[in-house]
Amino acid sequence: MIAGNRSINYLRISVTDRCNFRCRYCIPSSPFSVIEHEKIARYEEILRVTRLACELGITKVRITGGEPFVRKNIFSFLERLYAIESLKDISITTNGALLNQNKIEKLIKLGIKRLNFSLDTLDPVKFKEITGRDRFKQVWDTILTSHKLGISPVKVNAVILRDINDKEIEDIAALTLKYPFHIRFIEYMPMGDSAVEKRQQMLTKEIKKRIESKFGELNPVKRTSHDGPAKKFQIKAAKGIIGFITPISSHFCSECNRLRLTSRGTLRPCLLNNFEKDIITPLRNGASDDELKKIILTALTKKPSFHGLN
Ligand code: SAM
Ligand code: SF4
Repeated sequence: MIAGNRSINYLRISVTDRCNFRCRYCIPSSPFSVIEHEKIARYEEILRVTRLACELGITKVRITGGEPFVRKNIFSFLERLYAIESLKDISITTNGALLNQNKIEKLIKLGIKRLNFSLDTLDPVKFKEITGRDRFKQVWDTILTSHKLGISPVKVNAVILRDINDKEIEDIAALTLKYPFHIRFIEYMPMGDSAVEKRQQMLTKEIKKRIESKFGELNPVKRTSHDGPAKKFQIKAAKGIIGFITPISSHFCSECNRLRLTSRGTLRPCLLNNFEKDIITPLRNGASDDELKKIILTALTKKPSFHGLN
């Protein structure tokens, strides 16, 4: 699928808006309600949209949420997703708290090779402060177990906020000295009304400078097809890689090859733009495959070439 001069081959599927965590940068600070059960796209509906998107050129899918593993029967959904032949690459972003050795083995059997975890701190007390849950040990154990069982790369996403976890930038970066992990520092994006203040936002330039003053100059690393928007670097002699995801300080819209399917069954060409195209209502009203494909292509025509956040 083509949008402007970009080839869109990546579908990000949110299977639920629910989460077992309450990360302060993600969850709104004012009361909010979750989507009613019947409005959530059913697995067979997600699979149909995915199949059609694959016929239009999607080859990679990322499963995300909310927290994907809070949704019932996620493993049988993943199994059916794997049955879509033209889908070359499936990965998952998770907070890791609901996974254990048994479940990771199950994921590996299904074909999952890579996993992205969210971890913003190495301090259990701070972990509870950021996520609202006392689950550091489970998450860290899951990350280490995934590594031991051969998941590669293990990617770790960290959102750094001033006066919250910025003192740990160097310690988090230092994980790459010991493990072949990809540590990805993601700039905080102000979406909705989270409890994060503007002054707490930290941009890549400052984070990178802090890492370089401790470990020396970061060496750029060649990009691979799995990199997405991360700019990759390495500390000298490190086993792992440090990535920076810069939605705020360096617009990567023109390189963005993603389309999103929300848990409500709408297509969103851009996370930072409110436009969405409803696909579930026509699907439930009996739309044909061709009609649904047209809706997917129409959503893509709305993919912006820049965003207004700064
Ligand atoms: N629950 C899963 C997890 O935490 O990995 C998947 C969903 S979560 C929304 C996906 C990623 O978005 C996480 O790595 C999280 O750190 C990041 N994220 C959430 N809110 C963000 C924000 N306001 N700015 C930047 N990244 C954010
Ligand atoms: Fe849940 Fe992930 Fe958001 Fe944290 S970042 S609240 S784990 S969806």
